[in-house]
Amino acid sequence: MAEVSPPIPLAHLTTLRTGGAPERMVDAHTADELVAALREVWAEDGAWLVLGGGSNLFVGDDPIEGTVIRVRTRGIDTLPSPRPGFVRVRVQAGHDWDALVAWSVEHGLAGIEAMSGIPGTVGAAPIQNVGAYGQEIVQTLVEVELIDEQSGEVETVPAADLGLGFRTSVLKQHYGSVPERSAVILSVTLELEEVGHAERPIPGVQLRKALGLAEGQAVSVAWVRDHVLTVRRSKGMVLDAEDPDTFSAGSFFQNPVVPASVARSLPPECPRWEMTSVRRAPTVIPLESYDGVVPAPVATDADVKVSAAWLIEHAGLRRGFRLPQSRAGLSTKHTLALTNRGGASAEELAELARYVRSRVHADFGLLLQPEPVVIGVEI
Ligand SMILES: Cc1cc2nc3c(=O)[nH]c(=O)nc-3n(C[C@H](O)[C@H](O)[C@H](O)COP(=O)(O)OP(=O)(O)OC[C@H]3O[C@@H](n4cnc5c(N)ncnc54)[C@H](O)[C@@H]3O)c2cc1C
Repeated sequence: MAEVSPPIPLAHLTTLRTGGAPERMVDAHTADELVAALREVWAEDGAWLVLGGGSNLFVGDDPIEGTVIRVRTRGIDTLPSPRPGFVRVRVQAGHDWDALVAWSVEHGLAGIEAMSGIPGTVGAAPIQNVGAYGQEIVQTLVEVELIDEQSGEVETVPAADLGLGFRTSVLKQHYGSVPERSAVILSVTLELEEVGHAERPIPGVQLRKALGLAEGQAVSVAWVRDHVLTVRRSKGMVLDAEDPDTFSAGSFFQNPVVPASVARSLPPECPRWEMTSVRRAPTVIPLESYDGVVPAPVATDADVKVSAAWLIEHAGLRRGFRLPQSRAGLSTKHTLALTNRGGASAEELAELARYVRSRVHADFGLLLQPEPVVIGVEI
């Protein structure tokens, strides 16, 4: 049986340090307890929220209706892989993500080392397809075991069916929308390469570029982890109880993905990354020109991802920016992180988020979208 614990305000359990107390709080220490707790709340038709490390949540301060279930399962199992030179690891959802990365590096396994230092749990990692420095979980994810709210059944779902995209999946509750699939991840299976501890050239241009490595330059997986942790610490992107720049949800706004024509209208200095080009099928064929043949999809200009940090800075908002008398501020190291400078309410953070959005919208015509899951607060 999952343990019912006295409700703790989410301000104590989220890295942005906001959020009221739920009506009921349950701690699940095993996958069976998690399944049983979910089936119970679903049978009662009550409101519910699963909580991992609270590092991708922006929660309002009012009391929270329903049950918060804390996922506190742990454990890594090693399984054979059908691919020579690879191994599979099945990890329980509540396992600490960075502890998994550290374990994989210690065991000479490659595939997630550039995602060192990302806070939170393994089960939450596929929810927004976590990524950093040229690696994303989609590159190593084989499948997840989940329990689906609609059927109440436990299923194994291949990564290809999770709709993993740039900081998104079908399981993520986006601001102002509903998840396409309501389900809770119980375990995650990754396929990692057995590279050992020797130095080796790093495959992948994006990863090499992100790590500042020349083509053919050899480094070990441990070097990648140490390098990434050093860079992340300098940007306040590794949780540190002594550093208020880390009292955040990481990047608060997503880098907007816009059509190439919109990207061309932005100042050329704005950093941008071309996405893979897409073929679009015609959606409307005028009747007078329809001859019974539907034209083949045409390749369009690739969409372009543009830097939200650059847009914020060039809308005149500098690192450390705060509204008058507010306890919320932009990180002093990184304009993309909204931070709680100590005792800020969810409303103070929301006010800052709205202000940043309105300034970027006024100057560049783009409406930034929040990256964290937003609950019980309007931005
Ligand atoms: C300092 C800092 C740096 C960060 N850097 C990065 C980064 O580099 N890259 C990146 O991608 N993200 C980054 N993040 C965001 C965050 O760490 C990740 O999104 C992480 O995966 C969230 O994990 P969590 O356990 O804390 O999730 P939570 O915040 O607890 O939950 C997030 C969402 O996932 C849901 N959820 C949690 N567990 C499960 C589960 N088992 N099944 C189904 N749904 C679940 C929750 O209900 C919620 O909707 C950063 C955050 C911080 C604070």
